Amino acid sequence: MRDAESAASARFTVVRDAAAVATAPAPLLALLPARPGSRSAHGPPWRSPPAALLPFSATGAGFLLVVEHEETDEAAHDNDVDGVVAAMLELDEALRVILEYAAGRGDTLVVVVADHDTAGMAVAHGDFDDGIAELRWLDDGHLATWVPLFAFGPGAPRFAGVLDNTEIGRRLAELRGSRASHPAS
Ligand SMILES: [Zn+2]
Repeated sequence: MRDAESAASARFTVVRDAAAVATAPAPLLALLPARPGSRSAHGPPWRSPPAALLPFSATGAGFLLVVEHEETDEAAHDNDVDGVVAAMLELDEALRVILEYAAGRGDTLVVVVADHDTAGMAVAHGDFDDGIAELRWLDDGHLATWVPLFAFGPGAPRFAGVLDNTEIGRRLAELRGSRASHPAS
């Protein structure tokens, strides 16, 4: 990770504070920590979600924002239903803000995807009216099952169908008008 950061710092201005995004010279790489109180060190970075996107759009140069929630993975390794649900609610909050931003502009592509399934949580039985779900875990490790991908905005149809995960970055780069810098492995 440190090697990646030092390599990035040769090409980008690296900042670790959202407040610095608007004033730092481009091209810019912002590495923002999880918000205080998040369940995970890799949770969404903002405490006040709408304010998080403003510094990026204010640059006027376009941006790629990557938001991860690691706790869905960590809690699933522990077969911790409450942990998974709490992480999903945080992620849902982040997505609400991002989708509202994108819908209000019309020029922003949003892609939502997991890098893998963890532990295979399944709803075996349940009752919507009673708010009851019986959950079962298949395992406590990473699985090779397919994961869904959701895309919204211009370019979204490019992400339909069955994709190798390496295609996602490549297609994002193509949509940006440039080519991925490394060949398929
Ligand atoms: Zn994991």
